[in-house]
Amino acid sequence: MSAFEELVALGGERVEEHAPLGARTTYRVGGSVRLLVTLSSRADLDKLGPLMTETGLGILSVGNGSNLLVEDGEHDILVVHLVGELATLTWRDEGGLVVVDAGAGLDMPIAARRLAKDGVVGFEWAVGVPGTIGGGVAMNAGGHGADLATSIGHATVWTDGTTETWTRQRLGLGYRTSALRVGDVVLAATLLLRRGDPGEAEERVRDVVRWRREHQPGGANGGSVFRNPPHDHAARLIEAAGCKGLRYASARVSEKHANFIQADANGRADDVFTLLSLVRERVSEDSGVTLVSEHRFIGFGVTP
Ligand SMILES: Cc1cc2nc3c(=O)[nH]c(=O)nc-3n(C[C@H](O)[C@H](O)[C@H](O)COP(=O)(O)OP(=O)(O)OC[C@H]3O[C@@H](n4cnc5c(N)ncnc54)[C@H](O)[C@@H]3O)c2cc1C
Repeated sequence: MSAFEELVALGGERVEEHAPLGARTTYRVGGSVRLLVTLSSRADLDKLGPLMTETGLGILSVGNGSNLLVEDGEHDILVVHLVGELATLTWRDEGGLVVVDAGAGLDMPIAARRLAKDGVVGFEWAVGVPGTIGGGVAMNAGGHGADLATSIGHATVWTDGTTETWTRQRLGLGYRTSALRVGDVVLAATLLLRRGDPGEAEERVRDVVRWRREHQPGGANGGSVFRNPPHDHAARLIEAAGCKGLRYASARVSEKHANFIQADANGRADDVFTLLSLVRERVSEDSGVTLVSEHRFIGFGVTP
């Protein structure tokens, strides 16, 4: 029996073949992957991890797909998704700090709300980022003057078949980047936060939610498409290049925020990608600035 067949047999309902992935991203469009492995505990990983590696398929961990565009069609890769015991949240007071252990599969907005409610402060900003803790570490997600790098102590990472503790230095968090490579799976992160007033913390959470509703579009999108170039804003450059509201087939640059692209229901990821490329081209012609996308891609000749 090949490692692939063994993984499918041993994994049972944890392993899905030809799994639709695009539909699980926040763009809600795009293709499928050869295997989707849903892990709910370290024991699952111990059992299935060696076989996952032996299949020889490229491995990619995916959280909520809120920064991910999956090319239409099927991709010969293995995607890991974390739930259950790998999505828990606990915290304890220790030496004037609050030490928070967050499973990588946990939604950041859920973590932000639960911590604020108990008067653990410093993570309220994350209520506006619809990703998981794992995706947040990989992207060094941030907003409202903070990011993961502001509070991370260390992370537990499955890399080359072993589980290691990565210090914040090793994680190498920069502006929407980290030192994690394709195939590395963040299992958990330890955040160092502080005690504060629960009422004020929950008010800050409500402020962030209010700000998001006022300034960002709803619907199917992947958040900011491009990073802000130094001393400027991608949205300003896109608007100046006349791209606000620009449509390509089933994808459209948002009228509300020019650095967002919205996908029509039953649209195509390929249209989103074409529009993204078109916007980059027009901005380059208009301002001389080459925008760099914040998104991660499966297919499109990019990864993995
Ligand atoms: C409406 C909207 C608003 C947004 N606002 C913000 C914002 O304010 N600030 C901001 O920074 N981002 C924002 N984003 C983008 C996105 O939410 C973040 O980048 C988030 O961190 C992605 O997390 P995810 O779990 O969805 O990751 P995914 O999109 O699933 O994956 C993104 C990358 O992270 C990697 N990854 C995911 N999980 C793991 C893991 N466990 N281990 C290793 N690698 C992993 C993937 O391989 C991929 O490379 C927004 C998105 C939307 C849709």
